[in-house]
Amino acid sequence: MSRQQPGDRKSARTIACPACGGPSRYASDNAFRPFCSQRCRNLDLGAWASERYRVDASASGTQERTEPPEESR
Ligand SMILES: [Zn+2]
Repeated sequence: MSRQQPGDRKSARTIACPACGGPSRYASDNAFRPFCSQRCRNLDLGAWASERYRVDASASGTQERTEPPEESR
């Protein structure tokens, strides 16, 4: 029986960069993990910021204009 120890590889492992999908080293020496580079991280941060802005904008626009009370003639 082959015993598989969890955390056998505690060294670097490669994951897919969330920004570009390229190989990214998920290791402590990769300051930009899970991204492969600072550029990808900045890209993601930019996406986050814009998304947050969008959400915030839509949230503020949640309140629809109160329609004028129907004036019965
Ligand atoms: Zn990347």
